[in-house]
Amino acid sequence: MAMADPSRPLMTDGLGRRISYLRISVTDRCDLRCRYCMAEKMQFLPKNQVLTLEEIALLADLFIARGIRKIRLTGGEPLVRRDIGDLVRRIGRRIGTGLDELTLTTNGTRLVDHAEMLADAGVRRINVSLDSRDPERFAHVTRGGKIDQVLVGLDAARAAGLAVKINMVALKGVNDDEILPMLRWCGEQGFDLTLIETMPLGDTGEDRTDHYLPLTLVADRIRAEHALTPLSHRTGGPARYHAVEGMSIKLGVITPLTQNFCADCNRIRMTCEGKIFMCLGHEDHVDFKEALREGGLPAVEPLIDRALRLKPAAHDFRIGAGEGAATRRHMSVTGG
Ligand code: SAM
Ligand code: SF4
Repeated sequence: MAMADPSRPLMTDGLGRRISYLRISVTDRCDLRCRYCMAEKMQFLPKNQVLTLEEIALLADLFIARGIRKIRLTGGEPLVRRDIGDLVRRIGRRIGTGLDELTLTTNGTRLVDHAEMLADAGVRRINVSLDSRDPERFAHVTRGGKIDQVLVGLDAARAAGLAVKINMVALKGVNDDEILPMLRWCGEQGFDLTLIETMPLGDTGEDRTDHYLPLTLVADRIRAEHALTPLSHRTGGPARYHAVEGMSIKLGVITPLTQNFCADCNRIRMTCEGKIFMCLGHEDHVDFKEALREGGLPAVEPLIDRALRLKPAAHDFRIGAGEGAATRRHMSVTGG
């Protein structure tokens, strides 16, 4: 399959939104257990329920033929999947032949081993999650992570020429005092920073209401120190960007709770089991795995159109007393 195939319809949902961005969760496993993301003891999927790398690559090609221009690999932790380099190289070969961009979201713990591979395969930008630069806090939030691994990984990414955006989930009473220092540190390092509101996805054994921090409040606090100028720059995702006075980096905010961004959503997500979710916040999905295993790609293609009809107008996340998780799925299953 070459570029987007002119004989096939591009993907447009029932509300006329053109779908051009696919996030693929390549594994539900992870070497960390971030408190807002996973429970301490997670039950991971048995191997035969997880798509093989070959199956993921075939489905990625099909989506590119139907007009997907940007793919982000995520997880779980994508770099813990064995032979992940094979998939990155394979999808990377589609850059310029249908695909505009291949990116990755990682916790950074294994970047030191993979940064060069990513750059060689055509990846230009990565998101690295880092909620605290304090070793003890980092270990607390991630339930045992070692920050040095991430810092060494960030150096490796820079050495390989990858542009880095730090993702920081803003957590009241956990890292809110680190947001301004993180912004300044990112400025020194040349990393962009995106702040994320905690979303009610899956049971983590912790109450997210306690740590929910509206980013509108955070932005006001930052503005007291640095003027923020909204930018029209978009990367295809939900973040809205600002220029920060006195710094050459961009500050992004992802505000699913305080400022809904669904009207121009261009994204769909594929889990490592081959389920296509049209919205992070809804349970509706279409399962591609069985169709693929029984009937190959021709059996999958009609399911794409079924999936498009399922895309809701908006998520309905709420955080507050008495509100449970919006979905039983953890973010690590659907892919952040
Ligand atoms: N393991 C990789 C990582 O941590 O970057 C990729 C997967 S992780 C699920 C993707 C992103 O989702 C991370 O930036 C993480 O902080 C964020 N995330 C996970 N659970 C979340 C939640 N409940 N609310 C908001 N962001 C969440
Ligand atoms: Fe793992 Fe990423 Fe979830 Fe943290 S946020 S537990 S690193 S998948």
